[in-house]
Amino acid sequence: MEILQDFSFDEIKILVEELGEKSFRAKQIMDNVNLGKAISTYSNISNELKEKLLARFVDFPLKVHTEQQSKDGTRKFAYELSDGNIIEGVLMSYKYGHTLCVSTQVGCRMGCKFCASTLNGLVRNLTAGEILSQVLLVNAMLGGKSGKNRKVTNVVLMGSGEPLDNYDNVIKFIRLVSSPDGLNISPRNISVSTCGLVPNILKLAKEGLQVILTISLHAPFDELRKTIMPIANKYSIREIINAAKAYFESTGRRVLFEYTLIDGVNNTFDCAKQLALMLKGFPCHVNLIPLNAVKERDLKSVTRQNAERFLTWLEHMGVSATIRRTMADDIDGACGQLRNKIESQN
Ligand code: SAH
Repeated sequence: MEILQDFSFDEIKILVEELGEKSFRAKQIMDNVNLGKAISTYSNISNELKEKLLARFVDFPLKVHTEQQSKDGTRKFAYELSDGNIIEGVLMSYKYGHTLCVSTQVGCRMGCKFCASTLNGLVRNLTAGEILSQVLLVNAMLGGKSGKNRKVTNVVLMGSGEPLDNYDNVIKFIRLVSSPDGLNISPRNISVSTCGLVPNILKLAKEGLQVILTISLHAPFDELRKTIMPIANKYSIREIINAAKAYFESTGRRVLFEYTLIDGVNNTFDCAKQLALMLKGFPCHVNLIPLNAVKERDLKSVTRQNAERFLTWLEHMGVSATIRRTMADDIDGACGQLRNKIESQN
């Protein structure tokens, strides 16, 4: 079965023509897609057209399987895809709007030692429409529509999966979700997080998209990085920083570095010093994330005090940095934790 949400407005126009329908049907279908509706619930098209669509497309690509709400208001969803696979999403609400964290793959093959998404490897890539449907579904749950009436205002590609390992679908998703025919969420409000696939960072720099590039660095020395992130065997930190600089030069957008603090591994003064040295003079920002300890992994988080000490070191050495609020650690907030819990119960 195909996924209607994979289609752009122009592709829907062609589809309508192929189905022998009047051209105004394309706009009606697009409106229904933007409202996050399942095909079987479209109310303004004939039953005959609905049947034609249902013969070819899944009714809706995913549904909420489980929802957990954190004390801080963060909501975490496990969605079930039409093939039964489970992915995750997190909704964070702020004064200015809602940020949705979306998954780009079922599982992940990057193998980072602290991350739960990668424990069982990669199952499959998500299509652009499956990524988009996460946004459509939650936007609709919040009572949002498209354009100015959308409720989801920001999207971060930080759920399970490595976005740049599913490059074409991720780019298509960004184009769909930012299209004026779609939800019209500006690429400037979309963050793409990567463990550092250098060739694809350089490719992204040339897409003409103004997305925020977030690089998961987590260590300032190659040898140390290799112990927690297998991808470090392929690309050096120097290559990653150079790619980040190229990204900044072609987009003008300040790059973000994620640095997950793991006790006794990467929270030493030497690490802070090397990090500062490496980033000196480069307009970027470092997000410190206290590790959300994953029960399958033998790594320890840092205390708040310890994270603050690392932050102070960085600040004294001229690095712009903040400690990210550890959100939702009471609800399996870290990547892949909820999915693993559900899969292990089955
Ligand atoms: N594959 C992408 C997106 C993954 S998740 C990437 O690597 O950037 C987004 C961020 O959460 C990454 O920086 C990732 O390294 C981090 N992360 C994953 N598991 C974590 C955990 N248990 N505690 C803290 N941060 C974690």
